[in-house]
Amino acid sequence: MKYRINDNCIACGACEMNCPVGAISMGDGKYEIDPDKCIACGTCASVCPMGAPEEVEE
Ligand code: SF4
Ligand code: SF4
Repeated sequence: MKYRINDNCIACGACEMNCPVGAISMGDGKYEIDPDKCIACGTCASVCPMGAPEEVEE
């Protein structure tokens, strides 16, 4: 499982600051997760005010 940020993202940046492996960066209008770096810790989902990071099947 990995995490992916859906369209509910309001680009607040909280997830980027809290990701332990630096997998999150600003993308096209919302933040994005690099699936090669994500260790599926769930921190981004915990800190997101919009519930935008979702667990996805690889
Ligand atoms: Fe980073 Fe963890 Fe979110 Fe993956 S699940 S993007 S490692 S905070
Ligand atoms: Fe987007 Fe949520 Fe990350 Fe904020 S914490 S940038 S709303 S995914």
